[in-house]
Amino acid sequence: MDKLVSLAKRRGFVFQSSEIYGGLGSVWDYGPLGVELKKNLKERWWRSMVHERQDIEGLDAAILMHPKVWEASGHVSGFTDPLVDCKQCKNRFRADDPRIKGTPGQPDAQCPVCGSKGTLTAPRQFNLMFKTFMGPVEEQAAVTYLRPETAQGIYVNYLNVLQSSRQKIPFGIAQIGKAFRNEITPGNFIFRTREFEQMEMQFFVKPGSENEWFEFWRAERMKWVEGLGIRSEKLRWHQHDQNELAHYAKDAYDIQYEFPFGWQEFEGIHNRTDFDLSNHQKHAGKKLDYLDPKTNERFIPYVVETSAGADRTTLVVLCDAYREEGVSGAEAAEGEGEGGGSGETRVVLKLKPSLAPLKAAVFPLVNKDGMPELAHRIHDDLRRHFNVFFDDGGSIGRRYRRQDEAGTPFGVTIDGQSTQDQTVTVRDRDTLKQDRVAAAKLVEYLTQKLAG
Ligand code: ATP
Repeated sequence: MDKLVSLAKRRGFVFQSSEIYGGLGSVWDYGPLGVELKKNLKERWWRSMVHERQDIEGLDAAILMHPKVWEASGHVSGFTDPLVDCKQCKNRFRADDPRIKGTPGQPDAQCPVCGSKGTLTAPRQFNLMFKTFMGPVEEQAAVTYLRPETAQGIYVNYLNVLQSSRQKIPFGIAQIGKAFRNEITPGNFIFRTREFEQMEMQFFVKPGSENEWFEFWRAERMKWVEGLGIRSEKLRWHQHDQNELAHYAKDAYDIQYEFPFGWQEFEGIHNRTDFDLSNHQKHAGKKLDYLDPKTNERFIPYVVETSAGADRTTLVVLCDAYREEGVSGAEAAEGEGEGGGSGETRVVLKLKPSLAPLKAAVFPLVNKDGMPELAHRIHDDLRRHFNVFFDDGGSIGRRYRRQDEAGTPFGVTIDGQSTQDQTVTVRDRDTLKQDRVAAAKLVEYLTQKLAG
């Protein structure tokens, strides 16, 4: 994991927030490559969930909502984690922190930080929502929250969307947006952060049909995840048992990935029943039921939710793409100066080309004999179609290595022959094979390779 974190910083994927001030706990910023990677992922999700489906509409609700929303949703009373404090070192932990030995509150419990025995308090509930104040006065009446999930923005707008889009149940609403949780013992890089982005879809169905839709969405979401190019042996399902179920859920399955720190969830499929809509109907005093035009029945729809973290899925993609490979022969010789020679290791992000932040990098082999001019022309041409990069610094091997670490699938080199016959070499990041391609055909060549 440390290697991935340092690569992420070195290549401009992810930086610690406010680093020059010593950093802000579990808040991260996306650099030039990270923002592209996460954007590609979000666009892929939006395309498959909204554009490619007739029965799902998009939404972008505000982060701030009426404070009563969070009473109705159960988050004010129920969105809590049991925490324990160490009376000795003053650190605070989740009660289920696997590093704690013994039972918190009992003499046998041992603090995982200072190692003291019997200093951990019994678990106490701690609400994870960030509180803030609306308006000029900081008083109780002005309290509101930064949303801890995007789903509620969908529920309170469900009738607006239904009526304006003329959808009929079953139908869904999809949203990508920020959520905030004051997580205790966060960590593992962008796995658990206090500010993060969710990609959520709520599918409204007739009561009685929710199990069928639940299975449908489970299959669809796994297909989507596999489409990211994630190795299937690193993916598995985990069904929540009764103790794990969130306060709103009747059934829940997580898609887990085997991270370097173990199997963990990055997306959940939840049967939320009519919990949220019924509670909003009660608290808001507004009818939220649906009149089925075919049967004339009235009902509050059940909801099947698919809830993915954009940051956590980005971490899955990065972890899965990270490889260290031995290189030999010509590639090793080219890499000389980068710890070179044969027997060298190449660090490469084998990102699916359509997800990669940069699609190609353009290199003049040497900075003379007309090569830079031609390389600039080719770069200008390519960047009208793709996000591409120009690099004329250092040996060609060193330039390849930098792009391997960035996950750039293609390296376009302009050499002596290029200025004679207007062809270039295209190096494939994964196979290391080089094709000679006519400069005029390059856009077509790359378009084909980047599909999927
Ligand atoms: P966890 O048990 O890991 O805290 P959760 O079960 O509370 O997660 P959900 O409420 O189901 O998570 O949220 C759905 C998705 O949102 C998660 O699968 C994850 O990808 C993302 N997510 C939730 N909390 C965080 C966080 N603190 N940082 C980053 N992503 C998060």
